[in-house]
Amino acid sequence: TRKEEEEAVRRSNAAEQDDIHSLRKFSRQEYLKKREEKKLEELRDDIEDEQYLFEGVKLSEVEQRDLRHKKELYELIKKRSEEADNVNEYRMPDAYDQEGGVNQEKRFSVAMQRYRDTHAEEKMNPFAEQEAWEEHQIGKATLKYGSKNKKQASDDYQYVFEDQIDFIKASVMDGDKFDYDEMEDSIEKSKAKSASEALQAERKKLPIYAYRDELLKAVEKYQVLVIVGETGSGKTTQIPQYLHEAGYTKHGMIACTQPRRVAAMSVSARVAQELGVKLGHEVGYSIRFEDCTSDKTILKYMTDGMLLREFLGEPDLASYSVVMVDEAHERTLSTDILFGLVKDISRFRPDLKLLISSATLDAEKFSDYFDSAPIFKIPGRRYPVEIHFTKAPEADYLDAAIVTSLQIHVTQPPGDILIFLTGQEEIETAEEILKHRTRGLGTKIAELIICPIYANLPTELQAKIFEPTPEGARKVVLATNIAETSLTIDGIKYVIDPGFVKMKSYNPKTGMESLLVSPISKASAMQRAGRSGRTGPGKCFRLYTAYNYQNDLDDNTVPEIQRTNLANVVLTLKSLGIHDLLHFDFMDPPPAEALLKALELLFALSALNKLGELTKVGRRMAEFPVDPMLSKMIVVSEKYKCSEDIISIAAMLSIGNSIFYRPKDKQVHADNARLNFHTGNVGDHIALLKVYNSWKETNYSTQWCYENYIQVRSMKRARDIRDQLAGLLERVEIELTTNSSDLDAIKKSITSGFFPHSAKLQKNGSYRTVKHAQTVHIHPSSGLAQVLPRWAVYHELVLTTKEYMRQITELKPEWLVEIAPHYYQLKD
Ligand code: ADP
Ligand code: MG
Repeated sequence: TRKEEEEAVRRSNAAEQDDIHSLRKFSRQEYLKKREEKKLEELRDDIEDEQYLFEGVKLSEVEQRDLRHKKELYELIKKRSEEADNVNEYRMPDAYDQEGGVNQEKRFSVAMQRYRDTHAEEKMNPFAEQEAWEEHQIGKATLKYGSKNKKQASDDYQYVFEDQIDFIKASVMDGDKFDYDEMEDSIEKSKAKSASEALQAERKKLPIYAYRDELLKAVEKYQVLVIVGETGSGKTTQIPQYLHEAGYTKHGMIACTQPRRVAAMSVSARVAQELGVKLGHEVGYSIRFEDCTSDKTILKYMTDGMLLREFLGEPDLASYSVVMVDEAHERTLSTDILFGLVKDISRFRPDLKLLISSATLDAEKFSDYFDSAPIFKIPGRRYPVEIHFTKAPEADYLDAAIVTSLQIHVTQPPGDILIFLTGQEEIETAEEILKHRTRGLGTKIAELIICPIYANLPTELQAKIFEPTPEGARKVVLATNIAETSLTIDGIKYVIDPGFVKMKSYNPKTGMESLLVSPISKASAMQRAGRSGRTGPGKCFRLYTAYNYQNDLDDNTVPEIQRTNLANVVLTLKSLGIHDLLHFDFMDPPPAEALLKALELLFALSALNKLGELTKVGRRMAEFPVDPMLSKMIVVSEKYKCSEDIISIAAMLSIGNSIFYRPKDKQVHADNARLNFHTGNVGDHIALLKVYNSWKETNYSTQWCYENYIQVRSMKRARDIRDQLAGLLERVEIELTTNSSDLDAIKKSITSGFFPHSAKLQKNGSYRTVKHAQTVHIHPSSGLAQVLPRWAVYHELVLTTKEYMRQITELKPEWLVEIAPHYYQLKD
């Protein structure tokens, strides 16, 4: 039963915790030693892994180099660890140094190359031009950073670390005038009180508190209000509470939208804490596939995408009295669409209050869009920030970021560090390298507490970034763009900005979408710098030159609506009865080509008819909170009488690639267990179904998961998602039927959704997509990687060193003509 199983999970979690605690019981040295052993083990497994995965596959140069790096690093660490007891000083292995560390080269070249490829015509900067410019701009202001005792600090640094980056102090971003001392005082006073009193005292210290009454008056007077205030002024956590205190929750809920799900979870947790209620009761959050709210909920934090979906069930948002579109400056796709929808309903719902809040000052655009809505400015409390640029361009920003953080740690006064990185993998690498480089330094340096934060970080660990830094230690937060404005972390004094962000890019010609590491905008760079000046004067270290900043960065980030696949949004709008998309009230309209592409895809999926009207299939598809190809696969399963099987597959696909794991000491077992599900070369989709069904047969046993090297946490999430999909099937009146003996029926359902993702084998073992003749490859983790079927349909493309198809199933070419004659008829 679920109860027993939950108990088993709890016990296994407890065992895990014990493991961690037992590690903590060691002294720091012993702990680090253990970490080193672990790292060694991981490296060894990685190497074996790669040799195993790529057996028989010709490795590219980059992959070969990566593997070589790992091997060298392994040898070096091993040697060092054997010598460790005798060696007291910190020494960087030469080879490691020269090569820039494991994986670095690869990361940089792949990210940058990709970026350059896509921007091939754009200029690259000749060095000479840059130097001339810098000389001119900066004149003699070439301070090397480091404050009073510059020489001493820099010597200190070199004593511990060999490599160092030269910065040029370029400018000071002005702060605002206010009484610093007074604020310090109030901080002191709040320390003595009880936890809940302290929380209330803290609320009163936020810049927004002084404007509480004025703000409430403005909300009362105007239906739509644009609110602008520095990050950390208290907009997200306080405004909904003020409105609640003023009685706005008597006749409806207050919605506050966030572009990111971590922000929705974290902020709601904070507000629940401030109000002294349990999260999910009066204060809750709602993100896709996870609804943490109840009948009691009055303050609802949610992703902008979720509020968009709520329009489907409640076109006038009748259950809300206030909608606050927060982080409006982010201009995510969903936020942009929400603008049009809330503007529309505000016309016939005069009782609905609409707040548009933004961290940037160019709020006029929002005001203009909302018929000249008044702008309420919350005066900031910002200390001056010194901006430093690198002297020369840095070849490897991750390495530079790590070196800079250590440089700060050793030479600069107390204050935490925030580093902006582009994603989970990069953050994990940085964490490893930082630990590696500070290991064995003992008392030579103060303790460095490393806190990662990114979208998929387990909830339990998310709170860690908010814990105050102990005296004498320094915190370094490794964050994605989420820390730019969505989350405010107190105590940051130093910001390291490599100047990159992972961004969606979309090619409307091919309909292909991918995540690309790209340079940030000037506006982003200013926001990032500002994060260091919240609690005192700060410093921002930009890992690019002043020339790059001036000449290579765009002023503002292009809104997502202009660089993404619109199929999902078009389907949602159509099902809301908005037919004329070309004349929808967009703040910035998407490219016409992208709209047409979306319409074309929806037509191909039979979600729209020739006139662009929603069909019955389309109406049903729109009920599912997933991309149109996936929802088509689900809806069509009715025809093939396999809806039970298809929603299991859909749920498993939604989990991503965190289902199987390979414990380091039992890889062969794990691989065998995994291969079991692939018997008969059924393809990855069916293998996922088999995993789910086998788990179900054991009555969702945790033990079974352990035995089969499957992550029970992922499986439970899949079960939750599946339950929701089953509920939605019921809503669109599709019967739950299973047809697991007829694999072709299941495969045809998959093909009915994903036929635009079909590919044909080429002589050289690569594949070519049928529609756009793009060269792609089977991902080495696929069960069909060795089989190489002549035709395949894939779930998604991932760009690493190559364009890989992930999750594939074999296909019979005649199915394409049978299922999508309108799409494939013109082909031979
Ligand atoms: P804004 O929306 O204007 O950027 P917020 O309301 O998010 O400001 O933040 C106000 C204060 O609340 C900040 O000082 C921040 O540190 C604190 N805070 C926000 N979320 C949390 C959290 N999950 N844990 C602890 N403190 C938090
Ligand atoms: Mg906020």
